[in-house]
Amino acid sequence: MAKPTGAICNLACSYCFFLDKELLYPGSGFRMSDDMLENYIRQLIEGHRSSEVTVTWQGGEPTLMGLDFYRKAIELENQYRRPGMTFVNTMQTNGTLLNDEWCEFFKEHNFLIGISIDGPRELHDAYRVNKGGAGTFDQVIRGLRLLQKHEVETNVLTTVNRINADYPLEVYRFLRDEVGTDWIQFIPVVERLDQQGMALYQTGTTVSERSVQPEQFGRFLTTIFDEWVMNDVGSVFVPTFEAAVSNWMGLPSSGVCVFNKTCGSALALEHNGDLYSCDHFVEPDYGLGNIAETDIIELVASNRQRKFGQDKFDTLPRQCLECEVRFACHGECPKNRFISTASGEPGLNYLCAGWYHFFTHIEHPMKIIVSLLRAGRLAEEVMPILSKEAAALQATVAQVGRNDLCPCGSGLKTKQCHGRKRAAAASQPIRLPVHQAQPRARAMVMSE
Ligand code: SF4
Ligand code: SF4
Repeated sequence: MAKPTGAICNLACSYCFFLDKELLYPGSGFRMSDDMLENYIRQLIEGHRSSEVTVTWQGGEPTLMGLDFYRKAIELENQYRRPGMTFVNTMQTNGTLLNDEWCEFFKEHNFLIGISIDGPRELHDAYRVNKGGAGTFDQVIRGLRLLQKHEVETNVLTTVNRINADYPLEVYRFLRDEVGTDWIQFIPVVERLDQQGMALYQTGTTVSERSVQPEQFGRFLTTIFDEWVMNDVGSVFVPTFEAAVSNWMGLPSSGVCVFNKTCGSALALEHNGDLYSCDHFVEPDYGLGNIAETDIIELVASNRQRKFGQDKFDTLPRQCLECEVRFACHGECPKNRFISTASGEPGLNYLCAGWYHFFTHIEHPMKIIVSLLRAGRLAEEVMPILSKEAAALQATVAQVGRNDLCPCGSGLKTKQCHGRKRAAAASQPIRLPVHQAQPRARAMVMSE
């Protein structure tokens, strides 16, 4: 992915893990030059054996480069393309700077635009604030509606933090029903702090108060999964769930790097041509070189990058190696592996408790989906199967006493399990704890 504005953003989202990255390039203007843009596009094309090239624009906030930068990028793609070659341009943006001209350009050139939004207004505005500390919900929704008006292909990225993680159904139903998206990516906020309280490098064993808690994240995912698997299979795409299906199927790749056995193919290009092993490791120890001096293809194929990718598996602690859901989890992302196992071995994933809860919780529906797919049937057929199972269980529950063991086999009393009166989900107004969404006192920051 290319980051033409480096770490620079027009907003100041409190938990943004890129916020401190501008310190890596003191005095920089944080703008990719036209020469570097040409160098990048040419090398990217030369490095591709396949006929489809994906160009991923990320930030900071990539729209800060201005539209002419991307017009030039399209010109260069056309100039260097080989016969039969096609391009997919994608961009992750906060959407606040978009107007009709941007959207017409995106539509004309088939851009896929990812919009960062954290849920309904109260949840989004908790941390996604501008430099004055004000919520950005209205501006983001305005940008999203403009994209929809121009029929630009969009998807949504939602970061899961300490606040919105307590409102899984409110978040999911808002994105599905009110935003109207059918593609939702959930990214956990794990803001790891060093001794100075900075998130500049991946060091330290503490997290900020904005970071999602492991069990909280597990509950968030399982609650949304239950809603999805009963209603939205085949119509709403959640990469975490799709990756789980791929891993339960035993496919060679899950399609999401964090759930693969090894990593190393999500490199990040800074504005000045410095190439890093991954967007989460834009720090000196993981710099591979500068593409003005060494070709991208050489850097991508370097031993250093191979080792980076292989280390994802080679550094797993024993607890992961012996874990029954490792085939699905793979220890998730190495950036989050900074706690110790019960036996004191370092390198366990901070989110382990959440991932374990999630992957064990989804086992039954996953097995049904896999058997459907292997039989040449559709994954969405899982929905009526689970509905029938739920109806049969409720009929059995109605026949046992509230203090009897629940017929589902959980070991709990029925009144604590399937006999429990369910609160009307997502029907209450959202009430947030008093929070301190303090904007950072920085001139230049970056969005996720
Ligand atoms: S370090 Fe994490 S985000 Fe980066 S490629 Fe590996 S798994 Fe993916
Ligand atoms: S659930 Fe925990 S122990 Fe199991 S593979 Fe994932 S991080 Fe490792």
